[in-house]
Amino acid sequence: MSDGSSFYITTPIFYVNDVPHIGHAYTEVAADVLARWHRQAGEDAWLLTGTDEHGQKILRTAIANGVTPKEWADRLVETAWKPLLQTVDIKNDDFIRTTDERHEVNAQKFLQHLYDAGHIYTGEYEGFYCVGCEEYKQPSDLIDGTGEFAGVQVCAIHSIPVELLHEKNYFFRMSTFADQLLALYEDNPDFVQPAAARNEVISFVKQGLSDLSISRSSFDWGIKVPWDDTHVVYVWFDALLNYITAAGYGHDDEKFSRLWPATHIVGKDILRFHAVIWPAMLLAAGIEVPRRVFGHGWLLVGGEKMSKSKLTGIAPSQITDTFGSDAFRYYFMRAISFGQDGSFSWEDLSARYQSELANGFGNLASRVIAMVVRYCDGEIPTPTVFSEDDDLIRATEKRATDAAGEAISRLAIHEAIAAIWELVDELNGYITSQEPWALAKDPANRARLEAVLFTAVRGLGTLAVLLSPIVPQATGKLWQALGGSGELTDVRIDQAWQWTGGTHVSPLEALFPRIEATVG
Ligand SMILES: [Zn+2]
Repeated sequence: MSDGSSFYITTPIFYVNDVPHIGHAYTEVAADVLARWHRQAGEDAWLLTGTDEHGQKILRTAIANGVTPKEWADRLVETAWKPLLQTVDIKNDDFIRTTDERHEVNAQKFLQHLYDAGHIYTGEYEGFYCVGCEEYKQPSDLIDGTGEFAGVQVCAIHSIPVELLHEKNYFFRMSTFADQLLALYEDNPDFVQPAAARNEVISFVKQGLSDLSISRSSFDWGIKVPWDDTHVVYVWFDALLNYITAAGYGHDDEKFSRLWPATHIVGKDILRFHAVIWPAMLLAAGIEVPRRVFGHGWLLVGGEKMSKSKLTGIAPSQITDTFGSDAFRYYFMRAISFGQDGSFSWEDLSARYQSELANGFGNLASRVIAMVVRYCDGEIPTPTVFSEDDDLIRATEKRATDAAGEAISRLAIHEAIAAIWELVDELNGYITSQEPWALAKDPANRARLEAVLFTAVRGLGTLAVLLSPIVPQATGKLWQALGGSGELTDVRIDQAWQWTGGTHVSPLEALFPRIEATVG
């Protein structure tokens, strides 16, 4: 049982069928910001990400490319998925692959445990399956095809015909957990978030649950069912188990009890797997359910959901090559209310980069440090008398610290940034109204000049601490320029306004340089 101070957070493990687009990077960044924040709040934070490598779709892709599925997965992991983490500056604690032995062996243990406890039986599956979704489909999930598929029923997501399966399969008695799941949603309103996602899950379960086919026998790319090696485990059942096998389930009890339960960040399209099937599996095994399942929205490009097949896919490096990883992280966390759908456009990204990062934050930092260099030879003043205006900045530092922390506890990353940005805006207004360059002209105003520059430096330091999980590169440079002691990431974020500064500033390069090239 967790002692409450650990914060275990996961991304979905990504399917290695294809290369990452900005939707995947968005999920990674959100989980990383939350992990960095909790880590900097002094908690035992642990971020897990990884790849989902089994299933029929991977097998077919590998065959089409003339390689084995493992070779295909290795190639995608090394050339696409691990590099994604570098591209958007993810500080993950672990990376699990479902082909890892630690996963396969312990997933089998879990399955055997459920089998021994009577939660699994042999049955016949006859019904539809979409290989694109790797999901069993009900007739109500299908729509009429158009174009080349006119006259046939197709997957509503992929617009391609589904396959009719008729296999002997093993089934998980998921139907018996409907009441326990409904009680879980009722007793823990935060278990599924946001509210719209929770309501959808509740109404889905209220319609009654079917048992779930958890094995396939017509192909062999997967984890073998431990008591019957003519079957492989259904890819979703296999994949969901990564969250516990990576955390030590079955092989490191101390680690598992320290980390589990987790907060899962998922796209809303895979919410049912995480908020229905996954807790049912854990209830059957007698394992605590996740702390929270948060379904974020979709990224829309030109009004359509990001998808490679629809030619709206954008590689994260297309953005970071021009704007940098900090701007990527800031933009998607700021511009989109976490949990809602959000539109991406190059124009919006460029505009926010210029007005908020370059002019709002970066320019503030450059100006303040340049004035300390010019008027005080780089020495940070130590005034003793402050005005009401200075106190107001101090109050905003504390308010932003508290409000941002409170928003993060609700996973409202966009609200946290908005709270921090009140300090950016107030500091800019403060510099404009205090006019330190005018104070510097008359030695009689020396004490006032020093109070203003000290107040501005303090504010910048608080910003560096608070923005560190969101824009780690820029805040690291700012911290150095402010002469901050130790590593910025070791400074408690929940006490950001109380940071203790250095004695000297050093010159600071532009944190967010002007972008010359046109993009898009
Ligand atoms: Zn589909």
